[in-house]
Amino acid sequence: MVGQSMDGPIVQAVRLRKVYRGANEVEALRGIDLEIERGEMVAIVGPSGSGKTTLLNCLSGLDAFDGGKVIVDAQDLSAMSDRARTAYRRDHMGFVFQAFNLLPVLSAVENVEIPLLLRNINSRDSRRRALEMLETLGLAHRANHRPDQLSGGEQQRVAVARALVHKPAVVWADEPTGNLDTEVTQVIVELLVRMNKDGQTIVLVTHNPQVAERARRTLRMRDGRLEVASAERAAAVR
Ligand code: ADP
Repeated sequence: MVGQSMDGPIVQAVRLRKVYRGANEVEALRGIDLEIERGEMVAIVGPSGSGKTTLLNCLSGLDAFDGGKVIVDAQDLSAMSDRARTAYRRDHMGFVFQAFNLLPVLSAVENVEIPLLLRNINSRDSRRRALEMLETLGLAHRANHRPDQLSGGEQQRVAVARALVHKPAVVWADEPTGNLDTEVTQVIVELLVRMNKDGQTIVLVTHNPQVAERARRTLRMRDGRLEVASAERAAAVR
């Protein structure tokens, strides 16, 4: 097992609370305590509206919260400036969402190499790594296509390649296989599992039991709270 360091959990929430205000107040997170260890693969499951996406967004620093703490890599997210938080996300995290947000004027490979170029990796290495990532996802033959020349499933795979190409320490995925057929779902899940075996921490929200079952731990949300954790698969793997 790679990546289990002695530095403690990579992500920790302490009495995390989030309230959406408006005409009707919604207590989306009602005091969440959890720890995610380095190198874990965790699935967050639960009924629609139970707070899964809100939890992911608060843990990853995408969204502000109303109470409690989130500690990432021993740093208190709420104590960080917006700028530091943005830099931290860029350097250490990868995000896989259903909205692809590919840049329409760029080809598939150009979209995938953006995170590498942003990290000042030279254009030759960036291109090579982007092509490798596309190949892993079965898209080598589409590298020079623009998004409008790709199917929905292909666009999703390009987005996944872009989110993961810089090998972020933590990968946050919200329904990464939402609208995809079984075969593409399989490719993406296997990629996440492999990255996890290489030591990356993966946290994913999913409705798909076949996807959740590949994680080593399942966190179940209900009405803004975590249910008692189900049996850990870690024991079986280690
Ligand atoms: P899930 O991901 O489990 O479907 P969400 O985290 O999206 O759940 O939502 C949790 C609760 O918060 C739901 O009741 C939802 O309606 C509410 N909610 C989510 N986003 C907002 C928002 N921007 N404004 C108000 N309420 C919201």
